Order: sequence, then structure tokens, then C-alpha cells
Amino acid sequence: MKSVLHYVLAASTVVPALANNGNNKQITVHDKKFAVSITHDEVAQRVRTLGEQISKDYAGKRPIFVGVLNGAFIFLSDLVRATDLDCEIDFIKIASYGDATTSSGTITLSKGLSCDITDRDVIVVEDIVDSGLSLQFVVDLLKKSNPRSIRVAALLDKNLCKLNFPIDYVGFNIKPEFVIGYGLDYAQAARNLKDIYTLVL
Ligand code: 5GP
Ligand code: MG
Repeated sequence: MKSVLHYVLAASTVVPALANNGNNKQITVHDKKFAVSITHDEVAQRVRTLGEQISKDYAGKRPIFVGVLNGAFIFLSDLVRATDLDCEIDFIKIASYGDATTSSGTITLSKGLSCDITDRDVIVVEDIVDSGLSLQFVVDLLKKSNPRSIRVAALLDKNLCKLNFPIDYVGFNIKPEFVIGYGLDYAQAARNLKDIYTLVL
């Protein structure tokens, strides 16, 4: 059974971005090698725990989960299903990384909210916190709409930054390494990998 052998498209004119390196634990994406660092089972277990915690914290409330596209789409979809809340879901999209493995430092908003969050309980869902600039940008932006409360859930935290607000729900604290999979990309590839992989140097 194939496990980590995925191709971007079957069309012969398209160069495969992902290839299995002969075992299930290491893959090549474009020009770089990656190895599994957090398995899907570990992620699923942690997301279940976060979902239970959020369900308790927001019992009787009707929060709006705001996913930060593109990276958070898989985490958000698993996280909301790990809660038993009556909730709403919206997305914003920002651009910060481009196609590189390091942050550009410049953030632009590509898609704003589609709903009104005034007086609502908002949970921002982010894939990973590196410099923290993206999250700071998003939280500052959402606060302008005067939500009743705003909390943050991040699947991964590299612990590199000091934000002026807490990250209330953290999946995993990781080393400051470049990771892909479970929503996270390398040059737009690899978002659909189930496990989380770290760049092999
Ligand atoms: P920050 O603004 O905190 O430096 O970076 C946040 C955004 O950059 C994340 O939401 C994510 O989209 C991207 N990013 C940061 N670190 C990584 C990483 O290790 N891998 C990937 N694929 N994206 C990252
Ligand atoms: Mg992100």
C-alpha cells in the first residue's frame, strides 16, 4: 500500500513535487528532504485534547473560529470537529511566507472576514507561530471589530517570539525548524500530508 507517495497532478507535463524516498518516514518535496517529526496519530490525540478543553472553556457560548488561510485549514477542520460546540467558522487569508522557507517579514491581507465579529467570542486558529508577526497582525486586525473576547489556538509554536497576548491553546512546542504537512506547505506542496515533517539539513 502506498503511504507517502503523492503527486501534485497526474498530468505528464507537471513535475511531481513530492516523492517517496523509499521508506515511509522520509520524502523529497521539490529540492528538499523532509522526515516525519510528529505522526498523524500524535496530532489527532493532541487535537482531541485541545477540542475537549475548548468545549469546556466555551460551554454555553457560540464562538466563531477564524482560521488563517492557507496553513490552518486542516487543523481548523479537525479542531472544530473535536469540539461539541454550537459554533461558526470563518477564514481570513494573509500572505507572509511566499514560496520560501524563511519569513519575508511583510504581511498583507488577501481576504478579510465574511462575518461581523462585534461582541462575539472569537478563536483565531493558526497553523504555526514563528516570528509571531502574522498572529500579531491578525489579532490586531480582529480587535478593531470589537469582539467580546479573542483567544488563539496554534497547532505549532517555535517559541521564538514574545507576543503581547497569550497563545491559549498550543498543540506542540517545536524547535525552530522548517516543517511541512497537515496543512503546512513548502512552495505550495505537501499540505495534504497526514504527518508533520521537518526539513532534513
Ligand atoms: P510568523 O509570522 O509567525 O513568522 O509566521 C507565521 C506563518 O508563516 C505561519 O502561519 C505559516 O504560514 C508560515 N510558517 C512559519 N513557520 C513555518 C514552517 O516551519 N513551515 C511552514 N510551512 N510555514 C511556516
Ligand atoms: Mg499560517
